[in-house]
Amino acid sequence: MRIKDIDAVLPQTQCQECGYAACLPYAEAIARGEADIAQCAPGGVETLEALAKLMGVDATPYRQEVQQRYRPPSVAVIDEAYCIGCLKCITACPVEAIVGSAKMMHTVLPDVCTGCELCLLPCPTDCISMMAVSSEKKIPASAARRHYGAKKERLQKMSDAKKVSIPDSIKAQRDYIESARLRVLAKKSTPNASG
Ligand code: SF4
Ligand code: SF4
Ligand code: SF4
Repeated sequence: MRIKDIDAVLPQTQCQECGYAACLPYAEAIARGEADIAQCAPGGVETLEALAKLMGVDATPYRQEVQQRYRPPSVAVIDEAYCIGCLKCITACPVEAIVGSAKMMHTVLPDVCTGCELCLLPCPTDCISMMAVSSEKKIPASAARRHYGAKKERLQKMSDAKKVSIPDSIKAQRDYIESARLRVLAKKSTPNASG
């Protein structure tokens, strides 16, 4: 079974409730036969049935458990009166659904928020809460997948830039100091170096 086909039926909430870092790694684990089909709480029975069909397995033994763990769609809301602009929620958000800068209040973009709840725990002032939304208001999986990919790509570019520029500048600094030290040593060891 192709990973892409499995990922296509996952809700793309990117909430990590399945025990994997995002929807795609869960899809990969199912494809490898390492994960069962009942681990996606936001997907509910709909996702369970779709996975069962794809993988050619019976969903019946999982149905009750999945129904119990189902988490209906929601979006995060920030109580701006208590927001201290610490940026922790922005770091935790898998899809860039939060806007704001350091020491300024932050706001959630409801059209981008997947309802993953990953911003709740890191918030030091407990000013983020979840608000239920109807299924129609829930972000489509295709858009959530795109937003997740865009953030991942941006973080990767930032990390690549650091790998290139920071070590390079440190190396250049070290090289300069070393060459200066060698010049001084060479000067000292040369007779009549000072004239
Ligand atoms: S929506 Fe959450 S639980 Fe479901 S596959 Fe994606 S990351 Fe895992
Ligand atoms: S704002 Fe919070 S709940 Fe919404 S996607 Fe970002 S981390 Fe998840
Ligand atoms: S984590 Fe909480 S306090 Fe910090 S910026 Fe986000 S909403 Fe504001």
